[in-house]
Amino acid sequence: MSRQVSSLLAIAVVCVTLAPAPALAAAPKKAPVDCSKVKCIALTFDDGPGQYAGTLLDTLKKYNAKATFFLEGQYVKSRPAFVKRMVAEGHELGNHSYTHPDFTKKEIWDIRAEVKKTQDEVKKAAGVEPKLMRPPYGLTNLPISDVATEFGMPIILWTAGSEDWASKDVEKIKKQTMAVAKQDSIILMHDWVKQTVEAMPAIVQSLQKKGYHLVTVSDVIKGEELKPGDAFPVPQGWSNQ
Ligand SMILES: [Zn+2]
Repeated sequence: MSRQVSSLLAIAVVCVTLAPAPALAAAPKKAPVDCSKVKCIALTFDDGPGQYAGTLLDTLKKYNAKATFFLEGQYVKSRPAFVKRMVAEGHELGNHSYTHPDFTKKEIWDIRAEVKKTQDEVKKAAGVEPKLMRPPYGLTNLPISDVATEFGMPIILWTAGSEDWASKDVEKIKKQTMAVAKQDSIILMHDWVKQTVEAMPAIVQSLQKKGYHLVTVSDVIKGEELKPGDAFPVPQGWSNQ
């Protein structure tokens, strides 16, 4: 063996030895979940990152469940570490405005500014930009759709709600979520509601026991072939172009 080769080998050995443990301990890559073949559900958390997001992320990690977070830019700015963690742990991010105004009452330039500021904050926090948009209160119209188109995002609403913000009751949140959970449901929840985060271990375990895979919104809507500016589920009186 030449001197050069052996010293290269020595360097390689050192590199391997010094490699950080998480890289060596990384779990083998699993095949992505195919929601046309298995039962899927997308849990979505709005208005965050909320102050309890860390506990929620711990629960999701423990049960290998994925979720989608529709983030408010002002909280991305104040809690960037949660956003970074969401991306690192395989969750999906959506844009839910910067300050949560009713977009249907705003001028298009104002909507655009709200969306852009949030995209920029998420990029700063986690190095990626959301690819989905959920307007505040789930209210949408043509100018909102135009802005979503400009940013290359479909508008994602929800098929059912946990009503967590109204009940703020662990048992009621569990009961309501399990009652509305169906194949390919997109369920609205909030990570600023403490009781939602407290209910989550039981909800995740019950859903998994029923055979559901907890996946991102993009996994659930894969078959819909939504274009930027399209809304899903299609609101009453709306038609995607
Ligand atoms: Zn909201």
